[in-house]
Amino acid sequence: MRAWLRVAVVGTLAILVSSCGTADDFYHRFTGDEHQETHRPPPPAVAATPVILISIDGFRADYLDRGLTPNLKALADGGARAERMLPSFPSVTFPNHYTLVTGLVPDHNGIVNNTFEDPGLPDGKFRVGSKAAVADERSWDEATPIWVSAERAGIRTASEFWPGSEAPIHGVRPSRSSVFDQSISSEARVDQVLSWLDLPGDQKPSFLTLYFDIVDTAGHHFGPDSPQVNQALATVDAAIGRLVAGLAARSLKADLVIVADHGMAAVPANQHLYMDDWADPAAFRIVAAGAVAGLAPNSAPVQAKLLAHRPHVSCYPKGGVPRRFQYGSNPRVPPVVCIAEVGWLLTTHEREAHSKTPTLGEHGYDPADPTMGALFIANGPRFFPHVVLKPFPNTDVYGLLAHLLDIQPLPNDGHVEDLYPALR
Ligand SMILES: [Zn+2]
Repeated sequence: MRAWLRVAVVGTLAILVSSCGTADDFYHRFTGDEHQETHRPPPPAVAATPVILISIDGFRADYLDRGLTPNLKALADGGARAERMLPSFPSVTFPNHYTLVTGLVPDHNGIVNNTFEDPGLPDGKFRVGSKAAVADERSWDEATPIWVSAERAGIRTASEFWPGSEAPIHGVRPSRSSVFDQSISSEARVDQVLSWLDLPGDQKPSFLTLYFDIVDTAGHHFGPDSPQVNQALATVDAAIGRLVAGLAARSLKADLVIVADHGMAAVPANQHLYMDDWADPAAFRIVAAGAVAGLAPNSAPVQAKLLAHRPHVSCYPKGGVPRRFQYGSNPRVPPVVCIAEVGWLLTTHEREAHSKTPTLGEHGYDPADPTMGALFIANGPRFFPHVVLKPFPNTDVYGLLAHLLDIQPLPNDGHVEDLYPALR
């Protein structure tokens, strides 16, 4: 989730640091408005098997085979894993985390990129580093995440970080949640989840999310084949081991669904494409950059210039993005969408001048490229052991969660049938 940090090259760190929660709001509990509480159905009997959705940001599927993650490997062997899970386009953090909990591709769930423009939002813009935008319902209300449906069904939910969990989406937040704070260690995040599972009776959540960012951060800074990524893999794996041990100590069986939002590709230092060389920089806005760029030209001639053929990148008018990307119908998608060849970076001279650290790893590329393949492991009473699933799209995960929670899924882009071979 360095992506949460890195969208706006200048000043993002300061924004994020200033947005980190205080001790008070970190442990704040959303109590809901009176109307919502009044109409919430009585809580059902506490589910015997909680469902824990775990995201390890940027955990490329093949990292599991490096021999560095014994706890994850044991869960994969004792349950189901995918050869790889296919992210949705664009293969970046916020859009895909929202896909995982809504079953809708980013073009349909409204989080069309980590950065996008919408005149209906405060400041007219969504950025992952903007506390106001991230906490604003209007950013998210084009879709309904699984925790909203669960809470409405009387199922308590809790979130130790997930994009969208800080906003009252359609008026509903998880019963318990934490404001994102990157400084909270992986171990402390696990301990928070375990402490929620220690809550009594009707306060105990049956659906929980848990999020780790350090594998992605190391991947961006040092590249996917770096010792720093390997160290991060070991650290997160130890946290997973802590969770498994904590569940066992409580004699709790849980269904664990462990995913990543995308993989990671190496970016050689000389593989940069400078968009400010394509046309007069004053004549178009760069809404998003990286592996995928969103551009807003101020005239048709400038748009034609941006769409010109260039090596290592393909640019399309938003209505002409190849069909398999399922992208371009949402008003939040800017007029021009550029997709870099894997391993190439769309940037500007100005962005590079202000960048404090090089980017040696990136994602956002074509979801079908193996480097973008994401981790998927499912382990628990509802899953068969020793199952290896063929690659499937991450839109399927929502239907799986609805199935595990026994709630009716909303219309979505996934096909939960893809996962039936894993389910008891
Ligand atoms: Zn990510």
